Amino acid sequence: MRLTTLRRITQVSFILLIFLMPALDIFRYDTAARELIVFGHVWSLGLDQALYADHSLRGASHIAVRFFLKAILPWIVFLSIFPLLGFLTGRLFCGWLCPEGALFELSDHLTLRLLGRRSLFNKRTNDPVLPAASKTAYAALALVTAIVIPLAGGIALTGYFVAPRTIWHQIISGEFTFGVKAGIIGVSIYMLITSILVRHVMCRFICAAGLMQMLLGWVSPVSMRLSMDTARAKECTDCKGCDRACFMNVLPRMQKRDISCVNCGACIDACNRELGPGKGLFMYRFGKGCAAPEQTCRGIEKAAAPVPMARHRS
Ligand code: SF4
Ligand code: SF4
Repeated sequence: MRLTTLRRITQVSFILLIFLMPALDIFRYDTAARELIVFGHVWSLGLDQALYADHSLRGASHIAVRFFLKAILPWIVFLSIFPLLGFLTGRLFCGWLCPEGALFELSDHLTLRLLGRRSLFNKRTNDPVLPAASKTAYAALALVTAIVIPLAGGIALTGYFVAPRTIWHQIISGEFTFGVKAGIIGVSIYMLITSILVRHVMCRFICAAGLMQMLLGWVSPVSMRLSMDTARAKECTDCKGCDRACFMNVLPRMQKRDISCVNCGACIDACNRELGPGKGLFMYRFGKGCAAPEQTCRGIEKAAAPVPMARHRS
């Protein structure tokens, strides 16, 4: 199975998970009841009045330990997810799971179909060339997408703060509270603007989760990275398929860690298409070690100094 097909499966699955988490009470904060719901249970510190009444050292320690375990530790775990992911897998989350990344790729695709380029603003040399297709059908699809996806996102994400049952009740009755209206409209406008105007600029310069993965992936000696088998570089036909496949505008053949690379594997698929299944020049590797067989690694290390460093095409 192609990496891109696998990636679409992981992206859609993660979007479903994000949409369903509040509806299934897996995780949400109920602003009306002021309760955090985790896996169907109210997450509380478990500190009742009897504990506060105990002024002994034992009672104080009990409260401190409970507070640490139920309030501070979960936050530490939550906040360390993206740095840890970045340290181990680079920006793999951005390429394989992030719902916004998936939405931006969809917007890229529709723009490409309609305008012949990925971006609304300008054409790049690595914009793919697609066979001519009915623009009317794609225009209709773009319109439906621009309405349905932001609205669905608005409803689903508002569910993290207002019980989804309440939201649907208000949608059906047509009578909205201010919070629900503001949540749905705010998220919808945000999604619409970022997916039409901002897209991957957001991934590269604005998204905090992306920046954490980027920085930790950059400094990590062990993180997952895209690599080219430079020992076989002569087999490259210069078809530019890898350049065109990259929606992050990285030049995959330039052998350097590029902080914009989201490890999506589109260039791996593109090169396998050109050179034959399994014969492509790109692969994933972990750490700074060489991905090629040991004997060729030695040759690469000697030649490493003059290898051109990656350029970012921005
Ligand atoms: S360089 Fe390859 S793996 Fe990295 S973002 Fe571009 S296409 Fe994806
Ligand atoms: S897809 Fe492979 S063969 Fe084509 S330009 Fe890129 S590295 Fe060379």
